[in-house]
Amino acid sequence: MVGGLIATVALPAYGAWRPTEDAVTLQQVAADDAQSLLVSSDSTSADLTRDSYSATTPDEIAKKKAEEAAAAAAAAAAAAAAAAAEAAAERARQTTNVSAGLPLNMALVSPGSGEVRWPILNFTLGRGLWDSGYHQGVDLLASCGEPLYSAAAGNVSVSQESYGGYGVAVSIDHQLGGQSVNTLYGHMTYGSRQVSAGQYVEAGQLIGFVGSTGSSTACHVHFEVHINGGVVDPWAWLQANAS
Ligand SMILES: [Zn+2]
Repeated sequence: MVGGLIATVALPAYGAWRPTEDAVTLQQVAADDAQSLLVSSDSTSADLTRDSYSATTPDEIAKKKAEEAAAAAAAAAAAAAAAAAEAAAERARQTTNVSAGLPLNMALVSPGSGEVRWPILNFTLGRGLWDSGYHQGVDLLASCGEPLYSAAAGNVSVSQESYGGYGVAVSIDHQLGGQSVNTLYGHMTYGSRQVSAGQYVEAGQLIGFVGSTGSSTACHVHFEVHINGGVVDPWAWLQANAS
């Protein structure tokens, strides 16, 4: 629909500054200007050479000026659209390049549908709360590249490539059952974070991918839960709440 609209107005804009004697094919138009790639091949060539601008009456002159203004506006809109499309394509290329260097599992459907959800789908239980006397979370062992999801809706409070011993980490503040709950996801893969500090996330939203950054010797997510500022057992909390 947009292509058709541009095709009908972009050609006059082109004809307006193309010398009359130039016989221009659509292929040449396309080759000359990427913008013209939006022109469909079945568009009829409008008679809009310079000759058609030899207006004589005030009404005709006003009409031509209006047509020129509309054509210029359409050309500007087409250029803006082309620039936006190029920017989107560049972002896609960068995303592809980043992903290409990581062994990511791209099955990005989060587990569960509840207000609280499992932050990861495929894992085995590792070290628990207070393991060795100081471990403030639970380790969920998984392949590096396994997707990680927000355990609940909330606001991202931390999203850093180097968050102390946590390495690449994300922390999210939630309001659940009238309690202030914070969840933390550590040791993620470098460059894999999908959220920024201050961002609102939905329950089950992709936040990054399992890695082994920071104080870690194997691929896993270190998961912490704090309620009203106090450490709680994340494993018990997940089992009691996640669905
Ligand atoms: Zn841990």
